[in-house]
Amino acid sequence: MAIRNIREMGDDVLTKKCKEVTEMTQRTKELIEDMLDTMYEANGVGLAAPQVGVLKRIVVIDTTGEDPHILINPRIVESSGEQTGQEGCLSVPGKSGCVTRPNYVKAVALDINMKPIELEGTELLARAICHELDHLDGHLYVEKVEGSLIDTNYEEEDEDEE
Ligand code: ZN
Repeated sequence: MAIRNIREMGDDVLTKKCKEVTEMTQRTKELIEDMLDTMYEANGVGLAAPQVGVLKRIVVIDTTGEDPHILINPRIVESSGEQTGQEGCLSVPGKSGCVTRPNYVKAVALDINMKPIELEGTELLARAICHELDHLDGHLYVEKVEGSLIDTNYEEEDEDEE
């Protein structure tokens, strides 16, 4: 288990299409453990393998801090509704932007034992699933932002918060 270095926007690895995982190896298991550690360490709600420099179709998501989901070769098979809200990314530190996503999605994937699973989510979980899956095809949320990116380094100016 280890914390991996999170790649940031501008790094080519974030623009590449990732490859399907065909078998579970010890190395891939370690990668997944490290991705979870790295996500929690960075206080993120999701992390995709390319964000730690590995071009494999693997994402980890945990929107509550106690419900980790590991999705291998994930695909969205159903979506509905719409939500518009602020979104951020560990690869774009200190920024957020307004993005419209479906309000409900259902994804199919493989778990760490390469067994088929389904994950359904609404609101933040639906947003996280869409965001993380975009990473696997080399897309960042900044491509979808409505308006401009805003600075989230609000440590100095808390009074602007509601
Ligand atoms: Zn991201």
